Amino acid sequence: MSRRLGSGSLVIATHNAGKLKEISALLEPHGMKCLSAGSLGLPEPPETGTTFVENALIKARAAAEASGIVALADDSGLSVAALDGRPGVYTADWAERQWFEGTAGRDWYMAMGKVEGMLCEKGPDTPRDAWFSCVLAIAWPDGESAVYEGKIDGALTWPPRGTMGFGYDPVFVPEGRDKTFAELDPAEKHAMSHRADAFAKLVAEQFGG
Ligand code: IMP
Repeated sequence: MSRRLGSGSLVIATHNAGKLKEISALLEPHGMKCLSAGSLGLPEPPETGTTFVENALIKARAAAEASGIVALADDSGLSVAALDGRPGVYTADWAERQWFEGTAGRDWYMAMGKVEGMLCEKGPDTPRDAWFSCVLAIAWPDGESAVYEGKIDGALTWPPRGTMGFGYDPVFVPEGRDKTFAELDPAEKHAMSHRADAFAKLVAEQFGG
């Protein structure tokens, strides 16, 4: 059993407004006041880890050290069994594209196509099993930490289908379903996702009986 958060302020170590809103909505009913790393002017540390756990801890520890307040960070991504778990921690990097001189951006269709191309190169019978992971890390300013890992298994499909969600959602069919994450009602996705799994574990340990 790890140390408990109790109630009070918690820094959410993300500069992504969508994530901040989603995480705050999950934690505020448990008495936490969520502050954003952006509003405190905290820098974004380089994600130099080679696992989701390492990267989530890097982000949470950097925010806790800089602010003196307990911090929560997440790291997530897609792993493909036949690609030895890639893109994994490099999931977002595979979508980076230099659009034209001086500007960069993320191209999810390019990233999904890259995964599909690598699977096709391996042959038509290559298994298409894949999973999304989400790691939540809590770091206290004195160095203590707690980690919660969530996962959802599924399979990749091609071509991409659906218009909801984000990232690799249009090619990921969760186990037991025939719709992609981008075709499912967002509430349905959020109830079964890797993030929901990690949050359920965090809430059970941190706020459970
Ligand atoms: P990070 O956790 O912000 O480092 O992002 C990792 C990347 O994983 C995201 O940019 C998405 O491309 C991908 N990813 C994580 N969760 C999901 C999901 O639920 N659906 C689709 N893509 C996801």
